[in-house]
Amino acid sequence: MSVLVMKFGGTSVATLDRIRRAAKRVGTEVAKGHDVIVIVSAMSGKTNELVGWVNETSPFYDAREYDAVVSSGENVTAGLMALTLQEMEVPARSWQGWQVPLRTTSAHSAARIEEIPTDNITQKFGEGMRVAVVAGFQGISPEGRITTLGRGGSDTTAVAFAAAFDAVRCDIYTDVDGVYTTDPRVCRKARKLDRIAFEEMLELASLGAKVLQTRSVELAMRYNVKLRVLSSFEEPSDEAGTLVCGEELIMESNVVSGVAFSREEAKVTIVTVADKPGIAAAIFGTLSDAGVNVDMIVQNVSESDYEGHEGKVTDMTFSCPNDQLKRAEKALEAAKAEGKLTYDRLEAETDVAKVSVVGIGMRSQSGVAARMFETLAQEGINIKVIATSEIKISVLVERKYMELAVQALHDAFELEKA
Ligand code: ADP
Ligand code: ASP
Ligand code: MG
Repeated sequence: MSVLVMKFGGTSVATLDRIRRAAKRVGTEVAKGHDVIVIVSAMSGKTNELVGWVNETSPFYDAREYDAVVSSGENVTAGLMALTLQEMEVPARSWQGWQVPLRTTSAHSAARIEEIPTDNITQKFGEGMRVAVVAGFQGISPEGRITTLGRGGSDTTAVAFAAAFDAVRCDIYTDVDGVYTTDPRVCRKARKLDRIAFEEMLELASLGAKVLQTRSVELAMRYNVKLRVLSSFEEPSDEAGTLVCGEELIMESNVVSGVAFSREEAKVTIVTVADKPGIAAAIFGTLSDAGVNVDMIVQNVSESDYEGHEGKVTDMTFSCPNDQLKRAEKALEAAKAEGKLTYDRLEAETDVAKVSVVGIGMRSQSGVAARMFETLAQEGINIKVIATSEIKISVLVERKYMELAVQALHDAFELEKA
């Protein structure tokens, strides 16, 4: 049996017509002899609408009910896809996550996949079914509650199924024809990459390139899944799209392979905290317990005997996703009220964005940071916070300069050239 996994994102299943078009493509693969596992997202815009309803009903919602609501979009498209295939005389049926059952941790809204038993679906393939349509994004916790895998999580469902079924390939059908040097919607000079290394894709995804969910790339890397990103609107071919693969399969690459950005960031400064051992642990332990994903951290210069404070004090700055800002402030204020932390006040900036350059070539070539900072300086863009790792450099800038920064960096590193 050769299993192929095909995942269709929100725009690829946005209407009944598009579901038909996707189903035709599935039919072609079935005709080639594959047993196909189709993973579907909700119709585009649906999950946002459901999230909006939850927030309006209950701002500090019960995460278990959030998952019950936001997972529902995928149930609709899974059933419709199975029906469409049946209309085309392709033997198919749908599965919701819990029916597989796709077992996850109980971290609601950000659950991790723990196990995908294959017997149920394999048995049906043995009985003549040709397509298993599985609702992406959702699973079931050890407590028997519905969970979701975080926004964009259908990509992860797809890769996890490909790993579990030892699939020949995992094809991610989306609204762009592959992975580009940056989001083609922001930079028109963006160039499609034929191949990209797992590690680079991992950084790009975690720094905001939403074409693949970060966790899906992690899984593909760990289980060596042959992962391809391609358009559901263009005629398929064997060379179509971008292959996400091991570094050894990439002959030459630029020092910087891509620019990523994240528009919805917030910067928080905790003003006048004590500069002594244990304070960073108290701050970031509090934030982690509250489920805040802190990204960049800067501790400012400390001062002694500052306005009535005993000993040394400092300011601590961190960034986090904008939609977690309220949660972060609430947690820090609670820690202050309980006496776990002392500080004067919190200052939040919500008009910031993060822009990053990524490339495995940075391991062996210096000067990337200098070029990046010079480029931003020439455009008059002030850098608020900097963070680096072996293969990436990120800066926090005012949001209104985000597009300009992306385009200027794309030019400076000549990413339009192969
Ligand atoms: P789907 O609904 O199919 O999962 P997404 O909207 O999650 O699609 O992801 C595809 C989008 O990712 C594209 O429309 C594009 O705007 C965006 N994107 C961001 N960075 C990149 C990149 N480097 N290459 C390609 N697309 C990117
Ligand atoms: N529908 C979910 C979302 O919009 C999951 C996905 O599309 O991957 O985040
Ligand atoms: Mg997506």
